[in-house]
Amino acid sequence: MNRVGEFYEFQRVDASQNEVVYGVANVGEFLEARDLTRSFGGVQAVNSVSFSVAKGELRGLIGPNGAGKSTLFHLISGHYYPDRGSLVFDGHRIENMSPAARAKLGISITFQAVHLFDGMTVLENVMVGGHSWTKHEWLEASFRLPRCRREEQGIREKAMWALAMVGIERYKYHLAKSLPLGMQRALQIARALCSMPKLLLLDEPASGLRGDERRELLSLMEKLHENALTMILIEHDVDFVTKIASRISVLDQGQVIAEGTPDEIREDPMVISAYLGTAISHEVN
Ligand code: ADP
Ligand code: MG
Repeated sequence: MNRVGEFYEFQRVDASQNEVVYGVANVGEFLEARDLTRSFGGVQAVNSVSFSVAKGELRGLIGPNGAGKSTLFHLISGHYYPDRGSLVFDGHRIENMSPAARAKLGISITFQAVHLFDGMTVLENVMVGGHSWTKHEWLEASFRLPRCRREEQGIREKAMWALAMVGIERYKYHLAKSLPLGMQRALQIARALCSMPKLLLLDEPASGLRGDERRELLSLMEKLHENALTMILIEHDVDFVTKIASRISVLDQGQVIAEGTPDEIREDPMVISAYLGTAISHEVN
């Protein structure tokens, strides 16, 4: 479905049939960063990063600890603002937009640490992802006006669709905290999907997972990719990311030091010396 030069855009979700229908959209760059820079005190966490991601692409983002990967994600999601540089998403200049405004445009992030509402069910946790209320809408909601009840029903349907998508719908009435880590990660992804994203940023979703859980996550990502959702995946395990990403960007000390196909990345001398080392390059062979 996802052929080179042909990109798809989300058009319609049919929650009752758990079916996402995509259609052919414009060809072109979907996300484009230019000279993106952010420092904390004396630390240049992200230093003049330029890169672009095409619609429907699944991009891998790797690099050693402290390379600036999570900071780059937060610059894209709006949780951090850049010191300088520009960011264009789906035709909009977004670098000064709030996280909520970017979420409305279709950017969604799953954080490195699992953040769940322990006292809430799996379904309720996912439904949180569907809300991007203004204060005014929140007031209406607290009086349960008809428009809000309809909206709530719509969010519930999207949440059910998202849970089916990640394969944990049978646990919808369980408490979120009762799930094993692999399913909590799936729940995080379902919550992100509930906002109907066009770009999903996944910050180390596989970390700490067992072998079978990693395989399930891999097949979930393949499924989302087949549905032409644009994704960027931060992952520490190079083996995992090379299995799934068609292109990989390598970050080191806040800068993009390499970008290419998994094969090109494995063979890049800069990458080997900065990150992979002999031990890891064995692992990916
Ligand atoms: P990675 O995700 O690649 O491990 P990070 O983006 O988390 O790297 O961090 C990059 C650098 O920026 C690190 O040196 C980190 O300590 C620093 N950093 C990140 N966020 C903050 C922050 N909120 N305050 C101060 N320093 C930060
Ligand atoms: Mg990180």
